[in-house]
Amino acid sequence: MTVMEGGGRKDIVIIGGGIIGCTTAYYLTRHKNYDPKKHSITVIEATRIAGGASGKAGGLLAVWAYPNNIVPFSFALHQDLAIEHGGEETWGYRRVSCGNLEAMGRERSELERLGAQTGVSLGKRVGENRKASRGKSKDSGLPKDLDWVMPDLVKGYEEMGGSNETAQVHPYQFTMSMVRLAQERGVNVIVGSVTDIEYTESSPTPPPTTPPPSDNMAPNGPPSPTLSSASVNSVPPPRNSRRKVSGITYTDTQSGASCTIPATTAILAAGPWTSKLYPSAPISGLRAHSVTITPSSPVSAYALFTEITVPPTPQSPLHSNQPPNIVSPEIYARPNNEIYVCGEGDMEVAVPETTADVQIDEARCDDLLTQVSSISDNIRLGRVTRKQACYLPILNVGGSGGPLIGETGTEGLLMATGHSCWGINNAPATGKLLSEIVFEGQALSADIRQLDPRRIL
Ligand SMILES: Cc1cc2nc3c(=O)[nH]c(=O)nc-3n(C[C@H](O)[C@H](O)[C@H](O)COP(=O)(O)OP(=O)(O)OC[C@H]3O[C@@H](n4cnc5c(N)ncnc54)[C@H](O)[C@@H]3O)c2cc1C
Repeated sequence: MTVMEGGGRKDIVIIGGGIIGCTTAYYLTRHKNYDPKKHSITVIEATRIAGGASGKAGGLLAVWAYPNNIVPFSFALHQDLAIEHGGEETWGYRRVSCGNLEAMGRERSELERLGAQTGVSLGKRVGENRKASRGKSKDSGLPKDLDWVMPDLVKGYEEMGGSNETAQVHPYQFTMSMVRLAQERGVNVIVGSVTDIEYTESSPTPPPTTPPPSDNMAPNGPPSPTLSSASVNSVPPPRNSRRKVSGITYTDTQSGASCTIPATTAILAAGPWTSKLYPSAPISGLRAHSVTITPSSPVSAYALFTEITVPPTPQSPLHSNQPPNIVSPEIYARPNNEIYVCGEGDMEVAVPETTADVQIDEARCDDLLTQVSSISDNIRLGRVTRKQACYLPILNVGGSGGPLIGETGTEGLLMATGHSCWGINNAPATGKLLSEIVFEGQALSADIRQLDPRRIL
C-alpha cells in the first residue's frame, strides 16, 4: 500500500515536534502541490517543540556524516535554508572547522588548586569571566587560531574537515524556526500526546504502490526495549494490511481531554518514543548528557572530537596501578559566545514517558566539565549556563545505521525516525523527501531505498 497520490484532499498529521517533525512540516508547506485550501497539516507534540534531543544536540553538520545517500543533499539544503531565511542570524548557521584532538588532561587536583587560586570551583556556576591564560605553542599540528585549547597539553591534531565540509546550526533555534515558518503557511501545532493511530478499511482496489525493496533485511541487533505506557495502546496493523489511516487520537496536554482528528496521512516522527506507538519499530533511546558554557573570552569557530587522557587521582590508594582514563567529549564553539560539550551515551535509565521526565545526572555533567576544563582555561574560567540530558533515537538493526524514512506498508502511515547522531544534519533531506512521498507518491531527490522502513518492519 502507499500514500494516496493525486489531487484529493489530504489531512496530514505529524506525530512529534522534534527537528524531524518540524522540518517535515516546513517542506510539506513548500511543496508545489501543497494547497492550504485543500490540505491540512498538523504537528502534534507531547510536551514542547524541540524539548528532546532536537533542542539539546550539538548541531554539527558534515558532508562526511552518514548515511551518504542523503547527507550531501541535506548539507546543501541547510545552506539553502540559511540563505533563504537568514539562518546565520536566526539559527546560528555558519561554516566551522572540525578536527580530532588528542590531549593530555591536567590532573583534577591541579584544576582544584587553580580553582582555589581563582575562586572557581569545578562543576559549579562561576561568577565572573576572566581572561584565560594561554600556554606556549608547540608542533602538534594544532591550528594557530585554535587558541582556546592549551597547546602544551596537545599530543596531536588532525583536521576532519575544513569549512567547505563542516558547518553548524543551533539545533533549538533551527527547529523553532522551521515550525514558525511552517505555521506561517498554515500548519497547526497541537500540544498533546498521541495515544492511537486510527484505521479504516482500505479500498478493495489498492492505489498504485511503490514496491518495497526486495532484499529484506532481518533485524539482528539487540531487541528493541519494550516501552510500556498506560496511555499508548496502538497496535500496528499487520504488514501490507488492507487498512488505511483515518485519524489520530491524542490527549490534550492542557485539558487532559481525549480528541480525535481526521488523518489521511500520519507521519511518525517521535524519535526515541517511536516504538511506544509502533512497537515493532526497532528504535530505542540512548541517554546523553551535555553542558553549555560561556567561555571566559570569545573562542574561534571549531568543532572538536577529542581523546583526552585523564590522569588517575593522586589521592587514590590505587594511584600507581591505576591506568589513565581516556575520555572523548565533543566540544563545539558556537557563534553566540557559547561552548557546547556533550559526552558519551549511557543505558542506565530507560526512555521516560516524556521529554519533560528525562533524568539529569549532575555528576555526569560535572565530569564533562572537569574533562574539558582540563585542556582549556577559557572553559575552566567560563560560566556554566546549562546542564542537560536527552535521548538519541537509535535503530537496533545490525548492518544499518538508519534512519528509517518512508512508507510502512500500511496505507497513509509514514515513518521518519532513527536518525541517531546525525538527525540535525539529516533533517532537511528527510523533510524534503517526505514531502515528495506525500505529494508525489515517491522520493525523487535522492535514492533512499536503503532507508525504506518496509525493509525491516
Ligand atoms: C548529545 C547529542 C548531541 C547530538 N549532536 C548532533 C549533531 O551535532 N549533529 C547532528 O546532526 N545530530 C546530532 N544529534 C542527533 C540529533 O539530536 C537527533 O538525531 C535528532 O534530534 C532526532 O530528532 P527527532 O525529531 O527524531 O527526535 P526528538 O528530538 O526526540 O523529537 C521527538 C519528539 O516527539 C515527541 N513525541 C514522542 N512521543 C509522542 C507522542 N506520543 N505524541 C506526540 N509527540 C510525541 C517528543 O516529545 C519529542 O519532542 C545529537 C544527539 C545528542 C543526544
